Amino acid sequence: MVGTVLDPINCNQTLFVTAMILRLPDPVSAQTWCHAQRAAGRSIGFVPTMGALHEGHLSLVGRAVVENNIACVSIFVNPLQFNDPDDLARYPRNFDDDAQQLEGAGCDMVFSGTLEQFFPEASVVAEITKRDPGPTAEGLEGASRPGHFAGVATICERLFKTVGPGRAYFGEKDFQQTLVVKDIARQLGYPEIVVCPTAREPSGLAYSSRNVLLTDSECKRAACISRALFMARHAWHQGEREVGKLRDVMLRELDVDGIHVEYAELRDPHDWRPEAPAGLLVRAQALIAARIGKARLIDNLRLDRDA
Ligand code: AMP
Repeated sequence: MVGTVLDPINCNQTLFVTAMILRLPDPVSAQTWCHAQRAAGRSIGFVPTMGALHEGHLSLVGRAVVENNIACVSIFVNPLQFNDPDDLARYPRNFDDDAQQLEGAGCDMVFSGTLEQFFPEASVVAEITKRDPGPTAEGLEGASRPGHFAGVATICERLFKTVGPGRAYFGEKDFQQTLVVKDIARQLGYPEIVVCPTAREPSGLAYSSRNVLLTDSECKRAACISRALFMARHAWHQGEREVGKLRDVMLRELDVDGIHVEYAELRDPHDWRPEAPAGLLVRAQALIAARIGKARLIDNLRLDRDA
C-alpha cells in the first residue's frame, strides 16, 4: 500500500509504503508458510480473530507487528464457540475489508479456512474432539453460553498448532477467555500470551464486532455498560470493598431502557471463584454481559488498578 502522512515536525507530506499482505486461503498453506518463517529464524506474533475488524483488533495487531519479526492474523468465525445459531448467522463478515485494514496495520499474513479445513479428521461436527477448557471456563460466559469455551479452547489449540507462534495476542475485553487461553498455553508449553488493554469508543463503549448490530440510539444507551464499570472503580477508590455493594453500583447504572443484564459480577482475578455478596475483595475484576437490541455485549474492568 502507498500513501502519504503529514510529518508533524517538518509539516510536509511524507510518502509511506507498506508491504502487501499475503492472503492464504486455508490452514495447510498457512502452516507451511509459518513453518518456513520459523525455519528462517523469524519470530511470529499471532492474533486470532473472527474478523469484522475494528480498533480493538488493530491494537493487538499493532503490538504483534512491533514485538515480532512477523505478524499474522487468522479470520475464522468458529461455529464451535456459538451456542446460538442466530448469533452465528448474524455475525458480521467482511474478509476483503478486513485484509485491507490488516495491510494498513503492517500485518504480514492473514489466513482463513472452513471448519472442514481446520478439522479434516472429522466428517461431521460431532466427530470433532473438543478440548476441555478447564476450571476458569466455569461461571459467567461459561454459564451463559454452554459449550462456548470448549469451542474456544478447541480452535485455539488448532490455531496455535497451525501457526506455531512465539507470542499470541488477546484482548482483556474477553477477560475470561484470556484465563482459558493462558491455561491452554501453559499445557502446550507455548505461546506466550500477551493480554492487551480494551480499546474503547469515545463514549467508553468497548469496540466489538457486534456493535454494528446496534442502532444509533442503542449504541448511546450501551455506553451505560462501561459507565457501570467505571462507577464501580470509582466506588473502589472511595474505599468500597463489599461485593454486593459494588454490584449495586453497577446495577444502578445499568438500569437503562432496553438494556437486559445477564450478569454484573465481581471476581478476584487471581482466584476466580464466585464471591458471596457480603464478601470483601482485595483485588477485583468487574464483569458485565448485557443484551441490547440484536446484540449481546460483554465488558469488564479491573477495579484495583487503573490499567
Ligand atoms: P474476536 O474477533 O471477537 O474473536 O476478537 C479477537 C481478539 O480481539 C480477542 O482476543 C478479543 O479479546 C480482542 N478484542 C475484541 N475487542 C477488543 C477491544 N475492544 N479491545 C481490545 N481487544 C479486543
